[in-house]
Amino acid sequence: MAGLAADFAVLGLSEPLLKAVAAKGYRSPSPIQLQCIPAVLAGHDVMAAAQTGTGKTAGFTLPMLERLRHGPHARGGVVRALVLTPTRELAAQVAESVTAYGRYLDLRSDVVFGGVSANPQIDRLRRGTDVLVATPGRLMDLHQQRAMRLDRVEFLVLDEADRMLDMGFIRDIRKILALLPERRQTLLFSATFSSEIRRLATGLLLSPVQLQATPENRTAATVEQLLHPCDMASKPDLLCHLIRSNDWQQVLVFSRTKHGANRMAERLDKEGISAAAIHGNKSQGARTRALSGFKSGEVRVLVATDIAARGIDIHQLPHVVNLDLPNVAEDYVHRIGRTGRAGQSGHAVSLVAAEEHELLRAIERLIGNPLPKAAVPGFEPTVLSAPPLDLSGGRGRRPQSGGGGRGSSGRPGAPGRSGASSRDGSSARRRSRP
Ligand code: AMP
Repeated sequence: MAGLAADFAVLGLSEPLLKAVAAKGYRSPSPIQLQCIPAVLAGHDVMAAAQTGTGKTAGFTLPMLERLRHGPHARGGVVRALVLTPTRELAAQVAESVTAYGRYLDLRSDVVFGGVSANPQIDRLRRGTDVLVATPGRLMDLHQQRAMRLDRVEFLVLDEADRMLDMGFIRDIRKILALLPERRQTLLFSATFSSEIRRLATGLLLSPVQLQATPENRTAATVEQLLHPCDMASKPDLLCHLIRSNDWQQVLVFSRTKHGANRMAERLDKEGISAAAIHGNKSQGARTRALSGFKSGEVRVLVATDIAARGIDIHQLPHVVNLDLPNVAEDYVHRIGRTGRAGQSGHAVSLVAAEEHELLRAIERLIGNPLPKAAVPGFEPTVLSAPPLDLSGGRGRRPQSGGGGRGSSGRPGAPGRSGASSRDGSSARRRSRP
């Protein structure tokens, strides 16, 4: 087996999987894979603190496929392994990984999410699926239409569980759980572990092995972070200037609002810097096109809202820019997790106006360090203190004291408490922390 991903072989994976790993060009397992693969192969439930970029997808997919290949394959609407993800993009990416890692096995895998026609999905599912990747809303819809049966599920994976709760999927998840057999192996991945996630995990996992890819709520050490203080009004100019003067070729920019994302992308385009916006109001087709243009290099700047950017997997993304700071401090960690992936160093820049100082304090408290600051000549802030941003979406200001950015989604009309979901990646967000 020399040459066939030898470091993976010692973890207990067999030849078809080692061949697939070698074909992906992986030389050695990432830390989360080192921990997760043997635990899953040994049949344990797993609860892992791991964000995108740690190699978590291979961490759960490889051993799951290894176990599935030995059992009777799925027939007649049966689903053997169910992977739930919060967004369509992440579902598509996980499904791509399942296909890539399973290419030398004869297991059947599929992916279902909202925003596309359900009928072809129903036809496919009726044949049985060894690994089904799904967003919770569409899965429930399809189950109600009796497209598949979930009472034979051997594996359940909740990927980015914190996001699923944030996006109001908890009711769908609980309904799905009620349809699964009690005897199964369950793996839960989450970037952060709030008390809500821990509550969910308690009823879900049986004596889980607990793993951690990076220290909880700490940003990856390979991401160089920098803050440019500036005025709110000069942010678009500053962003154009940074991209030009540094000659950045692939930049993911985060905007707090969909409208802001559109405006920034239009502005960049006008400046001759190719850009696309990606957010919940864009059709699935437009999102997929924007993402593939960005991956291929045709689109130099992708301007995204937090939800749309969730789960975007781009190899070695060199630059992330926070055009606005996120409303919720944990999102900062998620955002900059897009860069500096799998050991590569990355670069995360935040443009911060006086109105965002409270949000900044909450982020610095969370990551445990002040962010290094450097004003850009010509863009020094003229406004040094200002009232905090109104993050309530026009329904009156919410105080930001004490936690920074809590309790409000910043989206017009977003529910404050109930988290009604518009399903599968475009749902309103819910925060129910203290
Ligand atoms: P994930 O955290 O699962 O989203 O994976 C992040 C990226 O790391 C993906 O592009 C994977 O293809 C890549 N990756 C996963 N495992 C390895 C590995 N062992 N060596 C190199 N790259 C990897």
